[in-house]
Amino acid sequence: MSSTKVRVVVRVRPVQLADSAERVWVHCINDSTLHTLNHRKDGQMLAYDFQSVFNPKSGQRSVYSSCVQGLLSHLFSGENASVFAYGPTGAGKTHTILGPPSDPGIIPRAVRDIVDMRNTKLAEAPSNKIQLSFSYLEIYQEKVIDLLSPGAVPDLPIREDYDRNIFISGLQEREISSVDEFNLHFAPASKNRSTAATKLNSRSSRSHSVLILKVKVTLPGRTLTGKLHIIDLAGSEDNRRTGNQGERLRESGAINTSLLALSQVVDALNTNQLRVPYRGSKLTRLLQDSLGGNSHSCMIVNLAPEERYYYDTYVTLNFARKTKKI
Ligand code: ADP
Ligand code: MG
Repeated sequence: MSSTKVRVVVRVRPVQLADSAERVWVHCINDSTLHTLNHRKDGQMLAYDFQSVFNPKSGQRSVYSSCVQGLLSHLFSGENASVFAYGPTGAGKTHTILGPPSDPGIIPRAVRDIVDMRNTKLAEAPSNKIQLSFSYLEIYQEKVIDLLSPGAVPDLPIREDYDRNIFISGLQEREISSVDEFNLHFAPASKNRSTAATKLNSRSSRSHSVLILKVKVTLPGRTLTGKLHIIDLAGSEDNRRTGNQGERLRESGAINTSLLALSQVVDALNTNQLRVPYRGSKLTRLLQDSLGGNSHSCMIVNLAPEERYYYDTYVTLNFARKTKKI
């Protein structure tokens, strides 16, 4: 059986120049091409092509409708999906995934649409049973931590059932039937991750946060369960460069393990390799039933367009270029 590919798109956030001497390093040329300056040869450009390039003027709505909205109907037929934000700290991952209340990102939009879809289906066939629930976790130093009950168990085990569904033993799940109910449970959990001034070293930039939205449809004689994973990945910057030691260095090692494993899995899927190395990290193991196979996924690569990010941009684009093969 051939697996579905992972769609890879790029989003470049608005310029935030540090001072008048700093150059804009990344330029969006059109909907599929961007140019960067060449750090090896001054005055030259490097060109990169992707399935979609969202420029600094692209709004949250257009990113959502292009990358996520189309995945939702699959959840109601028992298929899984996943959406990632990949890129260096400061490039706009959290803005894309969560966004501020004044400019909501993927999570609030997806929750609203899933709740609406359930209500529409229930209005059409009131005898149907459709349950919505969610879990929220963090992978930090290769440990799975429940953000709905932080401090409970330090590292929850990832398991597989007889039908090859992946689940996390002991992970809290909240049933929801409205956006308000979701917000009630999600807001305090999300606060557990909120960032402080020392952003580059903050825990949120060094951990992967995973929201799992689950749709369970009960039909006569069977149930269909679909999961959507919405993932704000750890920063893709190379922490070794900043001379981190001890605890910090161990963190970087764990982040690199998960991000490297993820890139290998995406690469294996997009180049039709027979063996997909899901067991390379907690993150890829967790996504084993939601990446490839019958599932649907999209990786949003976030870029910061300023010169000071040039090296992270270069490394990130080379990662993305490798994974974008159709
Ligand atoms: P990351 O999560 O990748 O570290 P953030 O999402 O925190 O990055 O974004 C860094 C800064 O840039 C934040 O102040 C955020 O509000 C701003 N930002 C990111 N993307 C956009 C965008 N598309 N439009 C406007 N502001 C953005
Ligand atoms: Mg962030």
